[in-house]
Order: sequence, then C-alpha cells, then structure tokens
Amino acid sequence: MTLPHSDSPYPELRAELHALHLELPKNGLVTWTSGNISARVDGGLLIKPSGVTFDDLRPEQLVHTDLDAQVLCGDLSPSSDTATHAYIYRELPEVGGVVHTHSPYATAWAANAREIPCFLTAMADEFGGPIPCGGFALIGGEEIGREVVRVLRGHRSPAIILQNHGVFTVGRTPRAALKAAVMCEDVARTAFLATQLGRPQPLHPADIDRLYDRYTHVYGQQAAPAPQKEEGEVVS
Ligand SMILES: [Zn+2]
Repeated sequence: MTLPHSDSPYPELRAELHALHLELPKNGLVTWTSGNISARVDGGLLIKPSGVTFDDLRPEQLVHTDLDAQVLCGDLSPSSDTATHAYIYRELPEVGGVVHTHSPYATAWAANAREIPCFLTAMADEFGGPIPCGGFALIGGEEIGREVVRVLRGHRSPAIILQNHGVFTVGRTPRAALKAAVMCEDVARTAFLATQLGRPQPLHPADIDRLYDRYTHVYGQQAAPAPQKEEGEVVS
C-alpha cells in the first residue's frame, strides 16, 4: 500500500514533480509509460515509478531513493532509469533535475547516431551549439549515466541524445531540465524538416558564441525578481 500523500516526505516537491510529469505527454515527448523526471533531494532523489502511465501517476507514488538508487520510501519499483539519474546526481553536483524521454524527432537523430546540428538561433541560445550524441549504452546499470556525464560535464548543452535510445536533459531544477527536453524536441523537429528541404546552413561558431552569451547574460527580465519556479532556469 502506498503511503497517504500527507505522510510521504517532500509533499511540495512531489506535487511539483507530478505536475512536471504531466507536461511530458502534453508536449508530445512520451508514449504510454516511457519517460521520467527526477528531482534531487538531500542525499537522494525522487523519481517516477516504473510502468505507471502518466494518467494514473499520483504524487505519493513518486519513489524516494538514495544516490545508489536504493529505495528509501515507496511501495512501487522506481523507474528502470533510476541508476542513470543517481549516477548523474553523484557526478554533477550542480544538477538538481534530470529528464529522460524517447521524444520522436530527437530520437530519430539518435537512431542515426547523429548530433543535432546547430542550424537555428534558438539552438545557439538554449544549447550553445549542436546537441551532442553519446554512444550506445545498455539500460539498467550505470553505463548510460557514465556516458551522459562523460559528454555533458563541462558542456554548454543541457541535453544529450544517446545513440539508439533517446534524450537525457539536466538542469539546476527539474523544471529547467524539462524546458531543455521540450526545446530539444522542438529544434530536433525543425532541424529534421530543414534537412528534408535541402542543405540547412550551420551557424558560424563565433555567432553561436555571441547568441549564447546574449541569451545567457542579457536576454529576459534580468531586473525583475525571479519567480521561484524559474530558479535555476535559463531566462526565457
Ligand atoms: Zn529510455
């Protein structure tokens, strides 16, 4: 039996993480039970349980594990991607949220083992260049996490596509990681369409640098107090 909501630790974060999970199907990023979001908590993480549809998901069902992916609270098994999320939190202390999807356009690039080239100013803004493609890694252990960390550590992009698999994004908050997942699919789709039309022109690296710098440091409502939910998110 699942603990009543009020008895589950982190009730506010559970409510937020549950709401963010509902954005995955709303934005066309997931099918059936695939895809998950986690949030870092003190010494561990909260993550979607395995095999639960987004319609059926309840805040109290989110599973609390430690950073070795061992369940601390929850009666359902955590996502089969939990070891990956835990590895990312262990290795990248600045990360507070992780999203995983098989969103179709981005995953189509991953199936071809192709990075998503930087054809668009929106990509330069959000990802600081192409979205990198990591190598193939088997599901279940820490192999995927190692590949994600190997590529994303020190990288501008908060998103990676993994060969033959799908998308992982990171952020200082789960909401920031979700935004990166939504934007990743959006630019993957446009880059795909552009490729069908002809020969899209990659942006010059110096222009990418200028766009990224402006978006990161100048663009947006810098003077206004940041709304709490925007914390850790690139201003948009
Ligand atoms: Zn997957």
